[in-house]
Amino acid sequence: MFQYSSIEQYHAQLKEGSVTCLQAVQYYLDRINATKHLNAFIEVYADEALQKAALLDSERTAGKPGGKLHGVIIGLKDVICYKNHCISAASNILKNFSSVYSATAVERLLAEGAIIIGNLNCDEFAMGSTNENSVYGKVLNAADETRVPGGSSGGSAVAVQAGLCMVSLGSDTGGSVRQPADFCGIIGLKPTYGRISRYGLIAYASSFDQIGIFGNNIPDVALLLEVMAGKDDFDSTVSQKEVPAYSQLLSADKKFRFAYFDEAFNHPGIDPEIASAIRKQAEQLKTEGHVVEKVSFDLLDYVVPAYYVLTTAEASSNLSRYDGVKFGYRTEAPVADLTDFYKQTRSAGFGREVKRRIMLGTFVLSAGYFDAYFTRAQKVRKLLIDKIDLIFRDFDFIMLPTSPVTAFKAGEKMDDPIAMYLADIYTVMANLAGIPAISIPLFIHSNGMPFGLQLMTNKFNEVSLLQVSDLLLVAKSR
Ligand code: GLN
Repeated sequence: MFQYSSIEQYHAQLKEGSVTCLQAVQYYLDRINATKHLNAFIEVYADEALQKAALLDSERTAGKPGGKLHGVIIGLKDVICYKNHCISAASNILKNFSSVYSATAVERLLAEGAIIIGNLNCDEFAMGSTNENSVYGKVLNAADETRVPGGSSGGSAVAVQAGLCMVSLGSDTGGSVRQPADFCGIIGLKPTYGRISRYGLIAYASSFDQIGIFGNNIPDVALLLEVMAGKDDFDSTVSQKEVPAYSQLLSADKKFRFAYFDEAFNHPGIDPEIASAIRKQAEQLKTEGHVVEKVSFDLLDYVVPAYYVLTTAEASSNLSRYDGVKFGYRTEAPVADLTDFYKQTRSAGFGREVKRRIMLGTFVLSAGYFDAYFTRAQKVRKLLIDKIDLIFRDFDFIMLPTSPVTAFKAGEKMDDPIAMYLADIYTVMANLAGIPAISIPLFIHSNGMPFGLQLMTNKFNEVSLLQVSDLLLVAKSR
């Protein structure tokens, strides 16, 4: 029977002939079928995946060299375009819309022989922390089905957690890869802003958005990053920097320097068990000879407000394109004039949370309030970037929890959006500053739920981030 542990091992099995791509696809299709109630997948491309697997098998047995992701089975968050496949951002306003091109990231996966098995549920337009804002309904956390998987990339996290694909893609604007990874006990990497092209990623807040990766082990995550990263003529914000061979650079026998903030561990919102587990981890690193030091950080209470002012402002602009005229849902109700047509279309097309954010964003950009909110939030962003720059002069990593609490119970936070926003306290700073960050599944809470350690590093220093994560995970498995 097929069993998955890593891409490397799967490739070894394919080579020795103990498994085929077809068997692997069939295995995942069976599992997806058996776990439909989790609601992780929106659509499963069963026939296509089987056909592609058969083709890859015949090419391999004929001796044709395979790509780096030969036969690797991947799921995509429903905000990442795959040509001629439906994409909706889990919104009614895009229901039944079919992608006219593939995201650059997807093109690169396909070029290396990947098999895309389906698209994955998420919060509408990637706005949320629980995957409960989806037109397709909520996703269940496979570790405890009464709890949420986190969001917004909840389906992508559960697909890897429950073994429904090998690796998956999400998007991270304020934590949407790291927080669901934390809630589901898997790895979630958000690369540096501009490391992976955003071409073909449905925009939420363009100066924050980044495609991220979910996996069970660091070598898999490193390989996907290596394949997808790099310059792209279709995204002017993507970096031109050379892409290191991340998957070949994982072993590091060195001592790292970690900074931590007392303000983060003493925050009133944090579950004391999470704070103490991470403090203990810090002590452990010290005894192993790494440098771990406290740094003062007085901006913590400002990061969530700054994030929500800036991202809602960007969202209100980005989402203005969904007007019922050019594509997507269009009202069929009788309308008085064009303005009424827009109103009816957008009122019926968008869900509550998206409307709330469009209105908030429109408000903070309005002439009378622009300086009071948008300009001030930009100033906070600048202060944060300066502070983080200073920290990385002396340290390799900032060490934080990923989330102040373990996975919420379903429905628990839906009536209190502010409480839900505040739980983003530890993740949003990486997006405000554009730096890479990862959630590493190291801990289990006494309530039975997993949680992770979050590490952030300087821009384009993914190599160190992956190295240290691998080190910690390998040590944990011993
Ligand atoms: N929870 C955050 C939000 O609701 C993160 C979203 C994201 O990263 N896409 O905005």
